[in-house]
Amino acid sequence: MIERTLFNADHEGFRDAFRKFCDKEIAPFHEAWEEQGYVDREVWRKAGANGYLCATLPEQYGGSDADKLYSVIQMEELARGGWTGIGYGLHSEIVAPYILHYGTEAQKQHYLPKLASGEMVGAIAMSEPAAGSDLQGIKSTAIKQADGSYLLNGSKTFITNGWHADLVIVVAKTDPAAGAKGTSLVLVERGMKGFETGKRLKKLGLKAQDTSELFFDNVRLTADHILGGPALENRGFVCLMEQLPWERMQIAVTAVSAAQAAIDWTVQYTKDRKVFGQPVAAFQNTRYTLAEMQTEVQVARVFVDKCLELVLQDKLDTATASMAKYWTTDLQCKVMDECLQLHGGYGFMWEYPITRAYADARVQRIYGGTNEIMKEVITRSMGLGAK
Ligand SMILES: Cc1cc2nc3c(=O)[nH]c(=O)nc-3n(C[C@H](O)[C@H](O)[C@H](O)COP(=O)(O)OP(=O)(O)OC[C@H]3O[C@@H](n4cnc5c(N)ncnc54)[C@H](O)[C@@H]3O)c2cc1C
Repeated sequence: MIERTLFNADHEGFRDAFRKFCDKEIAPFHEAWEEQGYVDREVWRKAGANGYLCATLPEQYGGSDADKLYSVIQMEELARGGWTGIGYGLHSEIVAPYILHYGTEAQKQHYLPKLASGEMVGAIAMSEPAAGSDLQGIKSTAIKQADGSYLLNGSKTFITNGWHADLVIVVAKTDPAAGAKGTSLVLVERGMKGFETGKRLKKLGLKAQDTSELFFDNVRLTADHILGGPALENRGFVCLMEQLPWERMQIAVTAVSAAQAAIDWTVQYTKDRKVFGQPVAAFQNTRYTLAEMQTEVQVARVFVDKCLELVLQDKLDTATASMAKYWTTDLQCKVMDECLQLHGGYGFMWEYPITRAYADARVQRIYGGTNEIMKEVITRSMGLGAK
């Protein structure tokens, strides 16, 4: 196997500590959280208390000034264990960075320490019942009133952390006639009049993840609720586009780690399981299948690690990140399918991690921009964009 060169000894020490945290605070409870459809709030507070939320934020805002690899390690470890109910990644590496990069100083001081401590859980709400891939088609509006306030109306769906969320970054049109150029990111807090959290959605996988609908009925906002204040009003789309490469890499990181875990489980299972008097691993088909999967996951890991190097240098372009997202998540689903097959009927039983991992993998090709949209982005970078 090619040795990974991304991480130093401090990173690996952090990995050990976070792994222990997962073993103690997540593993024993995850099955119960799947049953109830959400993780206990306590696991957010414990993560905050241990410095596992928003570690990459500057210390002045409650973070540890850590580099992004510390977050990568958390994503890898959560994916490796199959702890897909835990929404730390989206909270720490999508929601908090929007506020850090685009927020006013007052917004940063108000929200970031609370996100870092776990006092607040963050979500981002772009998708609507009639607009997912076509984000420009969103219907939610935040229209300025004569008194300078804004009224937010609309609904969102499929929102990760949506049921727990105390702070939601909502994508809304502040100038509907201007299309993408009339879009803003607005900050909505739990308890605001007119903001309701809908039901937790029943899903094929990610059963412990509180994916929800959100409803906004004349929620009154001030200019302070526009992310970045008046200066960034109508510039929400630009902010969304700038953050895409890192957001897509997060999905690729989890894809590779989950796929490697599935291979490891399957190697062990096929060594232990006897059929026709010999281990399943003794069949040539088993060994070749696993060899093929391991080869592809190795290739994926090297590519993803290279992309992460570029992320650290702020040089990763959106098309390359899209390649990583689409290719690794397609691979993840293929690996889950092959590994499940090698488990036979036990691979269809929920108590086996491969079964959950198979179900959890499927959405990776859909969210964060579907893999078809990834290919659109790649074609555009090749000068092949659709008319
Ligand atoms: C578990 C889960 C969690 C999610 N979390 C969040 C979240 O936290 N925040 C958030 O805002 N959203 C979230 N989403 C929404 C997710 O980002 C969207 O589901 C996704 O972008 C696809 O949008 P859609 O579901 O409307 O599908 P559609 O856009 O209706 O797509 C349907 C099909 O058409 C294809 N298609 C669409 N346009 C094109 C095109 N131009 N060319 C070729 N094919 C095309 C798609 O690839 C897909 O196969 C989540 C979704 C799920 C399932």
